[in-house]
Order: sequence, then structure tokens, then C-alpha cells
Amino acid sequence: MANPLLDRAPPSEFADRRQSFEIKAKIDDFEELSRIIEADLATLETVSRPQGWRNEIVDIRVSFAWADVQRTLPVLRGRIETRVAAVCQRCLDAMQLPLVLDLDLLLAQGAAGEGREVWELDGDTVRPLDVIEESMIMALPLSAMHAPGAGCDEPANVAHRPADNLVRPFADLKAQMDGDGGD
Ligand SMILES: [Zn+2]
Repeated sequence: MANPLLDRAPPSEFADRRQSFEIKAKIDDFEELSRIIEADLATLETVSRPQGWRNEIVDIRVSFAWADVQRTLPVLRGRIETRVAAVCQRCLDAMQLPLVLDLDLLLAQGAAGEGREVWELDGDTVRPLDVIEESMIMALPLSAMHAPGAGCDEPANVAHRPADNLVRPFADLKAQMDGDGGD
């Protein structure tokens, strides 16, 4: 299947065409992102690793346009929605991380962004897939966690969090010192 996101052209050409993409891709279409997810899930026991995460739909609705009337600032705008498999850093269990990105990226070569988010061009041409993939990777949180009220944060589960049973060495030390009552 030919994937139009793989077309390579100068951003100005995409912007002139007002090229838009409404595509339901899969996580598997993004190699680097898949590699990152796979590495994250590798910390889970084999039995608790989620299945089928590579087939999760990536809903892409983006289009190229000119940000200025002089046609000097090509931008890629739109929305990308998907869910990625991840490991919750609080309960160390598998979780689904919703990822929703609103893009408004200036495609430029080291140009001043005028307050815009800039996607640094590597050469004269661009592949939409690369921009979308890098944007998704950058949107991944440094540490994923179940959302408030969900998973390990559900009221029923909060009481069983390992973190609540942590030894508190400094508190214990203070209690000991208080107990000594001086010399
Ligand atoms: Zn959790």
C-alpha cells in the first residue's frame, strides 16, 4: 500500500498544494516510535506485556499551508490522535497512554520562528511521516502514569500502592534521636 505520508517534497511545494492528509495509520508505520515503545514494554514480565499495540490506530488530520501572505513560512497544522502502550511508573504495570497533539509547526532551516514552534529541516525536502513521528516522540511523557482516578490511582487501589508502605529512614532516625533523650 502506497503511503502518501512517505512522499518527499520541499515544504513550499506541499504548502502551495495545500496538501492535506486524513489518514488512519498504525503505530507500526512509525519505526522509531515503535522501537521506543518496545524498549519501554521490555521492562514488563513477558506475560503482562500488552498485545496488539502495533496495530493501534494513529488518526492523522494534518495539512500544509502558508502562515504568511508573502508565502515564506510553510507550516504543518492539524491534529494527531492515538494511544500508545506504556509502563506506568507508579505501579509498574502496563497502561494505555492517550496521545493527542495539536500541531502548528513552522518548517524551516534554522530560521527565526517568530514565537512559533519550528521543525528544523534537514535539507530542502521533508517527509510528512518524519515530522509526525518526531512530534509524537517528543510528546511522550518522561514518565508515564495512570491518569488521576484510573488504574493504580483508583480509590480502591490507592490503599495498596507500594509507595504508601515505603520506609521513611529520616523519620525513623528522628524518632530514634528523640527517644535517646540527649545524653
Ligand atoms: Zn499505575
